[in-house]
Amino acid sequence: MIVVMKQGATQQEVDRVVHLIREMHLQDHVIVGIERTVVAVIGDDRYKDQSTIESCPGVDRVVPILAPYKVASKQSHPEPSVIPIPGPLKPSVGGRKLCLMVGPCSVEDRSLLLEVAHAVREAGGTCLRGGAFKPRTSPYQYQGLGEKGLELLAEAREITGLSVVTEVMSIDQVDLVARYADVLQVGTRNMHNFNLLLACGRAQKPVLLKRGWSATLDEFLLAAEYIIQAGNPRVILCERGIRTHETYVRNTLALAIVPAVKRESHLPIIVDPSHGTGRAYMVPSMCRAAIAAGADGLMIECHADPEHALTDGAQSITPQVFAQTVKELRAIAEAVGREI
Ligand code: PEP
Ligand code: MN
Repeated sequence: MIVVMKQGATQQEVDRVVHLIREMHLQDHVIVGIERTVVAVIGDDRYKDQSTIESCPGVDRVVPILAPYKVASKQSHPEPSVIPIPGPLKPSVGGRKLCLMVGPCSVEDRSLLLEVAHAVREAGGTCLRGGAFKPRTSPYQYQGLGEKGLELLAEAREITGLSVVTEVMSIDQVDLVARYADVLQVGTRNMHNFNLLLACGRAQKPVLLKRGWSATLDEFLLAAEYIIQAGNPRVILCERGIRTHETYVRNTLALAIVPAVKRESHLPIIVDPSHGTGRAYMVPSMCRAAIAAGADGLMIECHADPEHALTDGAQSITPQVFAQTVKELRAIAEAVGREI
């Protein structure tokens, strides 16, 4: 259940509700909104007596929550969350401004990374993506530069001002990656790695959570719930395509999740059409479709020499195509009340 306090309820009244929840051996999660405070009750509250809480001073109403997630649900937090990202360009995800996170699949070498970073900045991107630790299907494929890659990303931030988004694959990498990155990326293969989610929940950086390629909406939002519950409310969702019977594309980009997330959750959602299609020529159209559908931003793979990219060249667009795509996106953004 969710306890919605009256507008202007006092701290004492909120404390009283929290006390009663704990007496019921349930957990509380207090969310202070712009208009009013809401207390989410965590745990199995099906057999608890709501009326004690309902009759407390300062309580407006108690709403049962049917969805399995609570702190990620819109009921507990009716206003959309805007997640600020550290960095001199002050990017954020979820507000009027769209957030473009662009860069190579993997960090390969300094000059390629800087070339793309400059182009991203010039065309209107505010975040640089790039994997230093790469989750590869085969152990014989390129595994990334590790900490050296993180250093290069940090240097690119220093030079261009772009904030850095990079993947963390295991619990023991969280502190290291958080020292260099502005956003911790949890990849599709790790969406169900609950211990990693909890570790990201204890980190002091926003988390970009990619949808597991076979995850349902509920599973996706429950994964976000782990991070928020562990203490980090700064979660950005990312649709990156799911596995279906279709083999023409690498993944099927399930854009319908955008309006679904907007209805069920307060969390922002961006779309990754690169992994969502696997084909560079489809990326600009799917970028346009994602923004038209209400996405809060995009994650795009971009490489100056895609034919020689060490990873995911086939789905990487060039800086020129990216710049052209941004021009087209500006018109669509405006049509849906957003801006780049
Ligand atoms: C990535 O963005 O670098 C990546 C590996 O994506 P995903 O986890 O969606 O496959
Ligand atoms: Mn990739």
